[in-house]
Amino acid sequence: MEKETKRVIAPERFLPETRTAMRLLLDSGYQVYVVGGAVRDLLVGIDPVDYDLATDATPDAIMRVFSDYTVIPTGVAHGTVTVRIGAVSIEITTFRYDGTYTDKRHPDNVIFGHSLREDAARRDFTVNAMGLDQDGTLFDYFDGYTDLSNRVIRAVGDPVARMREDALRILRALRFSSMRGFALEERTEAAIRGEARLLCEIAPERIWKELLGILCGIAPGDLLLRYTDVLGVIIPEILPMKGFEQYNPYHDRDVLAHTAAVVAAVPPNPNLRLAALFHDIGKPSVFTRDENGIGHFYGHQKISCEIASAVMTRLRADKNTKETVETLVRWHDCPIEPDVKTIRRRLNRFGESTLRDLLTLKRADTLGQAEPRDERMALLDKAETVLEEVLRARDCFTLSQLAINGDDLIRFGLEKGPQVGASLRKALSAVMDGEISNQREEILRYLSQSNDAT
Ligand code: ATP
Ligand code: MG
Repeated sequence: MEKETKRVIAPERFLPETRTAMRLLLDSGYQVYVVGGAVRDLLVGIDPVDYDLATDATPDAIMRVFSDYTVIPTGVAHGTVTVRIGAVSIEITTFRYDGTYTDKRHPDNVIFGHSLREDAARRDFTVNAMGLDQDGTLFDYFDGYTDLSNRVIRAVGDPVARMREDALRILRALRFSSMRGFALEERTEAAIRGEARLLCEIAPERIWKELLGILCGIAPGDLLLRYTDVLGVIIPEILPMKGFEQYNPYHDRDVLAHTAAVVAAVPPNPNLRLAALFHDIGKPSVFTRDENGIGHFYGHQKISCEIASAVMTRLRADKNTKETVETLVRWHDCPIEPDVKTIRRRLNRFGESTLRDLLTLKRADTLGQAEPRDERMALLDKAETVLEEVLRARDCFTLSQLAINGDDLIRFGLEKGPQVGASLRKALSAVMDGEISNQREEILRYLSQSNDAT
C-alpha cells in the first residue's frame, strides 16, 4: 500500500518546465513524480538545481511522449533520458529496481519497476528517497521527511548491504553531511566505517568528485576529524597527521586538528580547501626536535607539495586545480612582507588570483595556530592593503605592462636573441623595485647605462 502523507509543496513551486513535462506524461496515461535531490531541496526551501522525474513509462515511451522536444538518450539502458524543454534539461528515469552488484558501483542488471515505492527503495538515503506528485503531495515510504527535519542521513534499508552494493554511497553520505551539516544516523555511520575499505574499488574520478563536495561543504573540518579513518582509505597520506604533536610554541593542536581548523577557515572553494588539507601533510615525515625540545618541520612545504601532487595525480585531479594547489601548498609558509616591492614581486611570480588565495590560506593557517597571533595577522592585513594599493595604482609587475617591449629594444640597436628577454627582465626588476619608473625614456636610459642597450 502506498503511504500518502499531507500535501507539503505548492506545485507552483516546481519549475514551469517541470510541470509541463509531468503534464505530458500524465496526459499519456503514465505516472510521474519529482524524485531525489529536488524533493529534498524543495522541502527545506531551497530551489533545486535540477529536477529528476521518475515514471512508469519506459525510455521508448518517454521518447514518444516527448517527440516534439529534444530528447537525449542519456542512459537508456539504465532507463534515463534527458528532455529539453525551453532552456531546461529534465532527467526522466523509468521506475526501476536494481539487480545484484558485483563491481561495487553498477548494478549488473536494471529491472524496470512499476511503482514509485520500488524506485524509492533503491535510492541511497531516506532524504533522497521521497517523491512529489503533480499536486505537490509527498510520497515518503522511508520516513525521509522526519530525517530531513532532524537533519539526519540514514541509509534506505540495511546500511551494511547498501554500502556493499555501492561503496560510493559511503562518500555520498559524507558529502551530504558536510554540505548540509547533517549527522549520520548511528547504524549508517557504523556501516560506513565498517565498509570503508571497499572505497578502494571505486573509480578515482568519482572519489575525486565526492571529495571536492565533502571539502566544500559547511562542516569539512568536523568531518575530517570524525571520519579520518574513512577518508584515510582514499587518502592514506592523511593518517600520520592524526595525533601528531608539534612541540612548537606556534601550535597548540596536533597536525590533523590544526589542518581541520585551516580547512574550515578558508572559503569553500576547491583550490583553497584542497590546499588547506594538504598544506602540512608532509610535517610528520620531516619532524625534528632541537636541544630545547622544540619541534621543527624544516622543508615540510616541499614534502607536503610532493604528497599533494601524488594524491591529486592518483585521484585524477584536473591540471589547473593540481597546479594551483601545488603552488599554494609549496609557498604557504613563505613570508609576504607588506611592502610594495615584495607585493609586486609576488604578483609577478604568482599572479593576482593565486596571490590572493595564498594570503587567504596564510590567514587561515595563522588562525589555526596558538595565541598570540595578532602580530602575524596584522602583517597579513597590511599585505592585503598593500596588494590593493598596488593593483589600484596599476603598478607594473609583468613584462606586458612594461612601457617598452622587445621591438623597441631592437629598434634601439639591440641584436635579436636571448639578450632582448634578459634586458626586459632586468628593466622589469628595476621597475618593480622602484629604482626607475615605468617610462620608456627612463627604462632605455637605465638599460644603456648598464650597457644592455645602445
Ligand atoms: P545533488 O544536489 O548533489 O545533485 P542529488 O540527491 O540530486 O544531490 P544526484 O547524484 O544528482 O544527487 O542523484 C539523484 C538521486 O539519485 C539521489 O537523490 C538519489 O535518490 C539517487 N542516487 C544517486 N546516486 C545514488 C547511489 N549511488 N545509490 C543510490 N541512489 C543514488
Ligand atoms: Mg542532483
